[in-house]
Amino acid sequence: MNHTLRIYMVVPCSEVLGPYKRFIVWVQGCNRRCKGCIARDSWELDGGELLKIDDLVQQILHQDNIEGITVSGGEPFLHQEALCELISKVRKHKDLGVIIYTGMNYEEIKDTDLAKMADIIIDGEYIEELNDDKSLRGSCNQNVICVSDRYCDVIDSLYGHNGRKVEFIPNDGRFDMIGIPSKSVTDTFIK
Ligand code: SF4
Repeated sequence: MNHTLRIYMVVPCSEVLGPYKRFIVWVQGCNRRCKGCIARDSWELDGGELLKIDDLVQQILHQDNIEGITVSGGEPFLHQEALCELISKVRKHKDLGVIIYTGMNYEEIKDTDLAKMADIIIDGEYIEELNDDKSLRGSCNQNVICVSDRYCDVIDSLYGHNGRKVEFIPNDGRFDMIGIPSKSVTDTFIK
């Protein structure tokens, strides 16, 4: 099996979307169109770039300082088969943790193979009016769900506190902001 995955962006190492250093994959395509979404460029289903999964697996495996992968988007559950292939191929070589951000509610996806591969799922669509500036998720309707016990000990220190973190990554002469921005950062750099 060597499928492709339509991605919006990857960042090989970041510390703002989960515990420890992580490889971040943003998939392309989302139908929700949440008001205030900071990743509007990831909405178009046929946008982004098609990557061979085996190439992405190699990129992840060559990144030797990471503890895990975070998958965001876009909507990861539009790419279930490809993401299952990616995660299972990576885990044949390295025990990496997996965090998935999804606009779906956990009840809708909890029985899927992809959800079962995750260690943490952060679920629910973004509701701008419920943005409470707390860390690790965009609005307070979203839940940080420990699917496995891998991050149980560290998640409380990261989740639901004041003080969101972002990073600015150089990209072809400009900077991409990654992470969950505070409302003041959003007002300054996005709106
Ligand atoms: S689910 Fe996420 S990517 Fe999709 S529109 Fe909402 S905030 Fe944006």
